[in-house]
Amino acid sequence: MKAPLRPFRATKDKTQGKIVKSPLSRKASHFAHAGYEGRDGGQKICDFLEGILNARINKAQLDQIITYILREYDTFGVQKKDNSITFDKLEKAGSFLTWTEKPIIPFKKILWPDRAVIPAKAGIQEKGVDPRVKTEDDKLFYNDNSKKKLSFLGLTNCDAQALDIFLKEFSHTDLLPKRSDILVITSECKPDENCFCTAFGQPKFNFSDIHIQEEGKNFEIFALTKVGQEIIKENGVSKFDKKLKIREIKPQNTELLDLKSISQEISRKDKHEEYWQKIADQCFACGACTAVCPLCFCFRCGSSNVAIKQCNNEISWDSCYSSSFSQIQRGFDFRPKNSDRLHNWYHHKFSRSVEKNGYPLCTGCGRCISACPANLNQKYIVESVTKIKDQL
Ligand code: SF4
Ligand code: SF4
Repeated sequence: MKAPLRPFRATKDKTQGKIVKSPLSRKASHFAHAGYEGRDGGQKICDFLEGILNARINKAQLDQIITYILREYDTFGVQKKDNSITFDKLEKAGSFLTWTEKPIIPFKKILWPDRAVIPAKAGIQEKGVDPRVKTEDDKLFYNDNSKKKLSFLGLTNCDAQALDIFLKEFSHTDLLPKRSDILVITSECKPDENCFCTAFGQPKFNFSDIHIQEEGKNFEIFALTKVGQEIIKENGVSKFDKKLKIREIKPQNTELLDLKSISQEISRKDKHEEYWQKIADQCFACGACTAVCPLCFCFRCGSSNVAIKQCNNEISWDSCYSSSFSQIQRGFDFRPKNSDRLHNWYHHKFSRSVEKNGYPLCTGCGRCISACPANLNQKYIVESVTKIKDQL
């Protein structure tokens, strides 16, 4: 009997809601499967973790730490505004959600607003010239002309991992701050029905400086890096408890993805045209999945003349689902069909990146599934690609 093709939203799946025990909980070095081990190749972070400082603190102590961070850093945190969860500039400790509800728009829109202007003299140190990259309304990329460092408060662990990969992708440019210039504080997440981070293995917690989890009315705080440890000590935390443990992420309704086979099968598009066409027939090519994905970074470049005898470069977000994105000179489109563009999205994330970097451009945050108006389920598509023969 043929296995069903399951490219649609989890809510249509009869198994939805059941927690399937992840095979990964049996593996010692589970995240090696996904390949991405964290900044500095993981090794240094593991060293940090040996010296981790764990403590139980109350709400007043947590507020003191957050107030300190607000004073020292330009801080963006997860907040509830007008009944929606946003990731926005945080002005006071009380407006921070201490547990993580993942906002649909990820950190990338803060690091890189919709349209950014790179002055002709970007990077050049010259008297009277501000070489920094600005947004259209003359703000710095991420911090309103402030000289403070940047802090992200309340990222999920998968977003902290995505931030690492995102910055790595642009590390050959001066466009974005370095990871060491950003303080990252993660908090325990509540996976929703579209999350699938455990499909890559039980995640490691080596992407943040401080991790926080709620325990009744109190909080357990884990300072994972030197910077994190200095911050909690500076704020009077002095009683440490080695027995406290970061809680693992609940295994989700998902099977372990075999990235090697997935990467190979996605590469064989010519053999599976019908499969990709079937999925593309459902897709509106709206690009919503790319807008919300923390690891989609297609952008377009342009230039504009400005009054002061120079030509600025401009970069704006784009989507590889858009037909104009694959057009080159004289309108030639090297991915003319939606099925070509849709396939390219999967190929980049789960084939090219796996081959080149050893990890996918996906952390399983599930945003693309939540955002898709066509009810396509990207996780099921990736999962089912190795079973194509059974599906057509
Ligand atoms: S592809 Fe989807 S699940 Fe993966 S990181 Fe992007 S939005 Fe999240
Ligand atoms: S959000 Fe869904 S319909 Fe829109 S481009 Fe992505 S896969 Fe296609």
